[in-house]
Amino acid sequence: MKTVGVIGAGQMGAGIAQVAAQAGYRVLLSDLDLAHAEKGKAGIAKQLDRAVAKEKISQSDRDSALANIEPVGDVSAMAPCDLVIEAATEREEVKRKIFEAVGKVLRDDAILASNTSSIPITRLAQAAPDPTRFMGVHFFNPVPLMGLIELIRGLATSDATVSAVEAFGKTLGKEIVHANDAPGFIVNRVLMPFLNEACFALGEGVATIPDIDTAVKLGLNHPMGPLTLADFIGLDTCLEICKVLFEGTGDPKYRPAPLLIKYVEAGWYGRKTGRGFYDYSGEEPVPTR
Ligand code: NAD
Repeated sequence: MKTVGVIGAGQMGAGIAQVAAQAGYRVLLSDLDLAHAEKGKAGIAKQLDRAVAKEKISQSDRDSALANIEPVGDVSAMAPCDLVIEAATEREEVKRKIFEAVGKVLRDDAILASNTSSIPITRLAQAAPDPTRFMGVHFFNPVPLMGLIELIRGLATSDATVSAVEAFGKTLGKEIVHANDAPGFIVNRVLMPFLNEACFALGEGVATIPDIDTAVKLGLNHPMGPLTLADFIGLDTCLEICKVLFEGTGDPKYRPAPLLIKYVEAGWYGRKTGRGFYDYSGEEPVPTR
């Protein structure tokens, strides 16, 4: 495997492109258009500069990683890819359209994988050019720091596809776990009810934003509180995952908290929009309630 395509140059796509480029792969990075893809690459350059400043990587490693990333205008440029990882917005119709478009140019032996947090892989595979060469490859945020990849096989995914993507994941220095194609896979199945419960607690006035975060952080020895973490993941993404768990299981324990819905309706998605449970416009995050 030499050339990797990454579709979606947001938080996750940029992170995936970065680690693949640092591992020596040639990376083609696309988004809605060339300007968005270039913006994604500029963000990666900033991350790499920060890593150089902290003496985690050398200037020449930074330069060669960046040189490996080529922003492209659309998915028709993905024809040379051995593996394409889709990391676009968590909406099924968006991903289906992408698969249809990229499917027109992918080689017969190329693998297509989705970084979806929650959409069933077997269902998504129906829009892929070949369901045997399609699977879930679930990275964690921030990709360069998080050591895990969950691999999810759909009903039709071949053993060869799983082996190839597992081998690729290991070359990125990540630990691999295998999950069945069940709503939320492993990590989000456990995490989202916890984050959602923090939103219920806030909405019901149990405690303030900082107190909920401090209580969980110190009381459970977590590195960050649940509302900070939800902002970090993106409240829109959290809501989509809650909906998938709720609809996928039919179990009311997964119903999204009204306050989470309200924040998303307000466009307050967390860090990526500058405001969620905290306001990120100043030096330090400030609680919004
Ligand atoms: P994001 O909003 O930061 O990035 C999504 C990107 O997709 C944006 O740059 C957007 O312009 C682009 N996009 C939208 N439509 C597109 C299209 N038709 N073609 C190409 N690009 C398009 O979101 P994110 O947090 O990076 O999430 C991306 C995917 O990764 C989602 O499937 C999400 O569930 C998954 N994921 C997210 C996290 C997390 O913690 N945020 C963790 C694991 C997986």
